[in-house]
Amino acid sequence: MNIVLLGPPGAGKGTQAKRIQEMFSIPHIATGDILRDAVAKGSDLGQIANSYMEKGLLVPDEVVIGLIKERLAEPDTENGFLLDGFPRTLAQARALDKVMEQMGKKLDAVISIVVSEKEIIRRLTGRRVCKSCGRIYHLIFNPPKRAEFCDMCGEELYQREDDKVETVKKRLVVYNKETAALIRYYQAQDILIEVNGEESVEDVFKNIKEALEARV
Ligand SMILES: [Zn+2]
Repeated sequence: MNIVLLGPPGAGKGTQAKRIQEMFSIPHIATGDILRDAVAKGSDLGQIANSYMEKGLLVPDEVVIGLIKERLAEPDTENGFLLDGFPRTLAQARALDKVMEQMGKKLDAVISIVVSEKEIIRRLTGRRVCKSCGRIYHLIFNPPKRAEFCDMCGEELYQREDDKVETVKKRLVVYNKETAALIRYYQAQDILIEVNGEESVEDVFKNIKEALEARV
């Protein structure tokens, strides 16, 4: 099973990725990890990637796709892989198809975890951090005993810039814009599996598993 996993921030992708990886005994390949590994190892592509990251620039597609190609050539991908964080754009999806074709592989399924904007905002804007000890709370999932104050040290909690409604909304606009074209591309190839990400973690996984097994 060669799988791509898509989902907006806050969709619970990490949790589902872990389960899919265990269920099908395939490696979870996250682009962020590949980049970090390559930089740490100091491979040719890693050094090139690092030269961009040091300047705070995005690593160009051809470098990332080169790293993915190297990763997909490793023996643990023999039974398949779960790719996470790539592709994000239509150009990247086409590049990935090309690389896989060269390797005699193809994608079997693209799982898209769908969550409404309202729910993502609910999930992502609830985080609060203690000003003093750094302890992390969530107003819904892990609330402090006294609203807006730390259980441990009694100091006030604050909301990080990244967790503010406006910031989350901006991230979603970018995600939706990039992903719309990807979704159409994979829909046209008839490999897209859309799963409702607002159900329980168990149910989301059950739906993913059933849809994948129906394709084996
Ligand atoms: Zn505290």
